[in-house]
Amino acid sequence: NFITFEGGEGAGKTTVLQKVSDRLKENGYDVLLTREPGGIRIAEEIRQVILNPEHKSMDGRTEALLYAAARRQHLVEKVIPALAKKQVVLCDRFIDSSLAYQGYARGLGIDQIYEVNQFAIDTCMPSLTLWLDIDPEEGLNRIAADQGREQNRLDLEDLDFHKKVHKGYQILAERFDNRIKKIDASLSPDEVSELAFQKIILHIDQ
Ligand code: C5P
Ligand code: MG
Repeated sequence: NFITFEGGEGAGKTTVLQKVSDRLKENGYDVLLTREPGGIRIAEEIRQVILNPEHKSMDGRTEALLYAAARRQHLVEKVIPALAKKQVVLCDRFIDSSLAYQGYARGLGIDQIYEVNQFAIDTCMPSLTLWLDIDPEEGLNRIAADQGREQNRLDLEDLDFHKKVHKGYQILAERFDNRIKKIDASLSPDEVSELAFQKIILHIDQ
């Protein structure tokens, strides 16, 4: 089972994923928790390049291709072997981030970015995607209050950009309504984790 978590800045993906992973393990599931872009050495290095605040001149298509490259390597080195071992793979971001951020918000086109990613991921799509839906303003307030968070190039983007990302996720949730399930991320981390846990259990056992 390949399950991905999506959402804009401050949605709480990282916190919720940790809780859900712990819950699943307590219930006897063999879980691999990982993240994108990154998760393995080569992809973490690509992540540094993409998110470096000094790289203000990075072209949108370059960015999209780098994400796809990091995704490919992460799949091959980490996700596919884990799926082969029948582990439940939980991944912080995947293709829908590219579709929402580069495809929709940066205006490169959802279909174009889908094509690039199709090449990168081949047939390895998640069977369930949980979209932690947070109002962009609320999300930005949360990250502004979070002192421990690493700074990145996306912090230079304004509210307008994050509203577009949100709209992008909305479009994706409608287009892929079989795969993408929305969770109200304005709830507390415990509540969101509980909802996510229930949806995952249902999905795995079906
Ligand atoms: O998941 P996390 O918040 O760590 O992501 C790191 C940064 O990468 C975020 O600021 C996110 O908005 C950005 N990102 C992006 N396009 C993607 C994936 C992530 O702009 N396709
Ligand atoms: Mg995070």
